[in-house]
Amino acid sequence: MESKIWLSSPHMSGKEQSYVNNAFETNWIAPMGPHVSGFENDIKNYLQHDSHVAALSSGTAAIHLGLILLNVCHGDEVICQSKTFSASANPIVYLGATPVFVDSESDSWNMCPEQLEIAIKDRIQKGKKPKAIIPVHLYGMPYNADAIHGIAKAYDIPVLEDSAEALGSSYHAKKCGTFGDIATLSFNGNKIITTSGGGALVSKRADIKEKAIFLATQAREKAVEYLHESIGYNYRMSNVLAGIGRGQMEVLDDRVAARRQNYEHYKAAFKDIEELTFVDEPNGYYSNRWLTCVLTPSEGIREGIRTALDGSNIESRPLWKPMHQQPIFKDAPKYVNGVSDTLFQNGLCLPSGSNLTENELNRVTSAIKTYFRV
Ligand SMILES: *Cc1c(COP(=O)(O)O)cnc(C)c1O
Repeated sequence: MESKIWLSSPHMSGKEQSYVNNAFETNWIAPMGPHVSGFENDIKNYLQHDSHVAALSSGTAAIHLGLILLNVCHGDEVICQSKTFSASANPIVYLGATPVFVDSESDSWNMCPEQLEIAIKDRIQKGKKPKAIIPVHLYGMPYNADAIHGIAKAYDIPVLEDSAEALGSSYHAKKCGTFGDIATLSFNGNKIITTSGGGALVSKRADIKEKAIFLATQAREKAVEYLHESIGYNYRMSNVLAGIGRGQMEVLDDRVAARRQNYEHYKAAFKDIEELTFVDEPNGYYSNRWLTCVLTPSEGIREGIRTALDGSNIESRPLWKPMHQQPIFKDAPKYVNGVSDTLFQNGLCLPSGSNLTENELNRVTSAIKTYFRV
């Protein structure tokens, strides 16, 4: 059997090791230390914006704290993009609030502005104005920020921008992770860069960053005795892992270039297979192409390709199953138009790691070509 080809595996550059060694040499083996603030600064400089960054233990933790800082409480409603990974929606439930799912548009596969406005109006009419909106830059493709933020502003609802998959993407030359009242990033093992596990909360307000760090370190008040006036969490990033992140930030642009190259490779390889289509970037959108997704004509063909790849020891995955189809969220209100259902039925994520070799990419494309007998 040939070696396994993964969907998206970690890609170390070698630079990470020296930061990690430094953490050991200086004994900063703790959820604080110079790499943590160094990593936060690296991200801030990369986003090139008046951003304030708090490094945390995961993207999910960042969303959880972000919702707390937007004052989401028990009994509130929060609008969330339905087509996403469950981590976008779970923290809403941690807080005893209710997710309200909104479907996608076909251009970006992200939150549909029309459905969003229908949802807001209907929730207000039913008696509850949503406390926050969570749009997602899925697979690295930016959401329609002008339209989504225009609507959010018109109804005066804050936005938590889930940029977990979109570090390195931009929308009209502005980096993803700088649009929301609060934005969140993930450095999980499968993301475009990784700290093995980790995340960050980004805000234009310095006081939001400070509050995030306060809550992430058990909400200890400034007193020598352990004094607590609010409930805290243990969500800070460790200095060792921040060291990995510092090394990864040095190569982030290379990682984006490699993933975009994968997309071009697949698109060129399948240009004569009319059953397979791709979604190009709308004007002004720049995707990091975290995962390359291909659309097929039917669920049967999608499964045929997936099984054929699996037979060649190649991992591929259907697109995220929409949250409104998940058993756990079956009772949540939803505003759907069929777009995310169709994408889920017909779409397949192909191996997309920045460390894929030419030979591995060719193994993937030839297995698919064999399936189509071309
Ligand atoms: C990965 C991911 C998250 C969660 O990040 P973790 O670091 O794994 O907790 C949230 N939202 C989306 C869209 C993601 O892909």
